[in-house]
Amino acid sequence: MDATTDNLAFSPKPIDAVGLRAGEGPAVQVAMAIVQRTTALRAYDTFSSGRDWMEKLSSAYVVALATRSADTYLMRQIQSCIVEDPAIPCAKCRETTLGINVIRSRLFPELAALRKYANALIHHLDHPKNRGIAQLNIQGVFDYCYHLFQENAELLFGRVPESSFPHTKCKECGAKDTDCQ
Ligand SMILES: [Zn+2]
Repeated sequence: MDATTDNLAFSPKPIDAVGLRAGEGPAVQVAMAIVQRTTALRAYDTFSSGRDWMEKLSSAYVVALATRSADTYLMRQIQSCIVEDPAIPCAKCRETTLGINVIRSRLFPELAALRKYANALIHHLDHPKNRGIAQLNIQGVFDYCYHLFQENAELLFGRVPESSFPHTKCKECGAKDTDCQ
């Protein structure tokens, strides 16, 4: 096995979390970001049967894109449910306090760490000058997908961990050393 395919030689852990489940009475609960979830998991499952490294790489690319999209969607959902009290007057302070990257790092630090592998793969493949994939952590992309859809399966049904977001000043307000509470 050459260096090109070394990092494709693994089998993703099976994901058995469900996307639909019984709700109250006759209702059915549908996981949030169901389209991204379905797309990601379909590619996740086809990876191992890829006939060559190109097929495997294209599965990994779809897993990265669809998982990242679901991740972003979920963080926006959480963000939209946070009540600002008191309201943050400066838009940049709001971003440093309640931006989706801040929310992800605070509530889901492992997700934030694994997302870097998806970003690296997407960035690499989006630039045609880049050659070879030996330096990419492909398994990390699958770990990212597994972590979101299996280990955080409850999040897709709206269960969000409790947390507070202490007011963090943006650079400008911090430099002014004014009290922008
Ligand atoms: Zn500010």
